[in-house]
Amino acid sequence: MRSAAALLVGATFACACGRSGSTSTANAATSATSTSTSTSTSTSTSTSTSTSTSTSTSTPTPTPTPTPTGSASAAPPPNPTPFGAPTAIPKYACSVVMPGGPFRSFLSPADTRVAFVDGDDLLALVNRSPTGALPPTYEPTDLVDVHDLSPRKAYECDSGRDCLRRDAAVALHKMLDAMHADGVTGRVESAYRGFHTQCWVFDGWAAKAHAGFCEATTQSALPGHSQHQLGTTVDMFTADWAARGPVFRDGFGCTAGGHWIDEQSWRFGFVVPYPIDPDDRKDGSRCAQRWDRPVPIDPKTGYKHEPWHVRFIGEDAAARYHAAWLASDPGSPGEITLEQWLRVQRGLQGDGELPVCDGCQCGACATMASDGDKSPCAEGSLRLDGNGHVVAPSDEPHIIDASVDVPDAGVAIVRVHLHVPAHTPTQPPVMTDREPTYAGSATFASLVPYPATQAHDYEDLPGAWRIGIEPNPPLATRWAWRASIARDDLEPTWNRANLLLPSGTGDLTISVRVAPPPGATGLRVTILRDGAEHDTRDITLPSH
Ligand SMILES: [Zn+2]
Repeated sequence: MRSAAALLVGATFACACGRSGSTSTANAATSATSTSTSTSTSTSTSTSTSTSTSTSTSTPTPTPTPTPTGSASAAPPPNPTPFGAPTAIPKYACSVVMPGGPFRSFLSPADTRVAFVDGDDLLALVNRSPTGALPPTYEPTDLVDVHDLSPRKAYECDSGRDCLRRDAAVALHKMLDAMHADGVTGRVESAYRGFHTQCWVFDGWAAKAHAGFCEATTQSALPGHSQHQLGTTVDMFTADWAARGPVFRDGFGCTAGGHWIDEQSWRFGFVVPYPIDPDDRKDGSRCAQRWDRPVPIDPKTGYKHEPWHVRFIGEDAAARYHAAWLASDPGSPGEITLEQWLRVQRGLQGDGELPVCDGCQCGACATMASDGDKSPCAEGSLRLDGNGHVVAPSDEPHIIDASVDVPDAGVAIVRVHLHVPAHTPTQPPVMTDREPTYAGSATFASLVPYPATQAHDYEDLPGAWRIGIEPNPPLATRWAWRASIARDDLEPTWNRANLLLPSGTGDLTISVRVAPPPGATGLRVTILRDGAEHDTRDITLPSH
């Protein structure tokens, strides 16, 4: 069958094909002890250096606010096991990602002992997070050779054949025929890959890459975390594209084949899970990225753009996804990805889950490891419980003092000095003393995170702690200016989504740029969780 193109033997399996996300529902077992110790009852003079005065007076909470309740009374999550039932992994055999392997980076043993994903589910949530992995033993039982649809065992597929589950392969044939009728000759580069093949592929990337393990994670999924293990996913190019060089190179999305896949594949039950985030599109293009800023991974998927990676979810589901995507205002920050649509089906909040901690993105990763476990990112991680929900530490963050500088007329930089226990959940927007700025009518529900992007809505996620700031007198929206307590180096990547992040740890200072309205006499600063304020302080605005 001409439609199913030839397999490239020994192909370079670039595609990340597994991705991650982040956030877990924040049904976190947040335990809340009372309101945090408000250290000094009255003044804490700040150490602020330059220009301006900054006395911060702590006041007793002026507005009555609900007292957070302990975990015992927290509402039960709507779906207690949204990621699937946890299944023990008796034997995890991929030494390249384990402690003592050839690289300094590794997965915590705690993240190799349990898997949540049911691979037979066409709508399985497979991504880079600890909850997004398939068991090493998962193999589809209805694999066929994509070229002639003959039944194949998984080991045969791992020995150089292109295989998919039967329904996906039949749909692929239909799709390739339709492409051909439109003058585009499709070509399958890579299809099913079992856990051990993915281990071997990842090892190959890590051994070759200049930066080893961590560079490999940007190009290849960790074993278990690849959508290719589902047997429903293919990396597809065109004959024209393959004739002009190695297929995994930039630009395929803007070819006739790339456009065809992006626009038509859903009609055959396929979706493109890793599109370009609207914030990263060049002039609104769906196929070209902006070049004026570096484009890191998309926090909603865990990967960069992969216009060749298509996943079969069934014609009916793909049609429903496509309708939901159209309704999400494509091109706006609200445009959904497959990951977000699958999350909604499972009752998950937030745009994604953080990648599993592997030593490469400490500060923005999640782990099942607890204090006694070996983990590559000790404090810079979110902790997950046995069902994959975020667990908050029993101690709460508290404000030590707050101050303000007014370097230029109209912009105030509020500096909040806090003490934060390790593993405290927070959420975007991450602010730095350079960008973004709450100016004009911007609030946490309408903040433009980067130049030349649209406003995002960073609604409160359950269990997340954030700084809240407002002018005195206040605006219509209470605590209109909210800011993450995550490390500020997370800003370039993670403001493109709204999800749970780990906070910075220990004594830290968060800077927030705001533009107080004319007539504001001062600012009020607090730390919020689930809408309740803690440690509220009043700060006088220096006259400029
Ligand atoms: Zn792929």
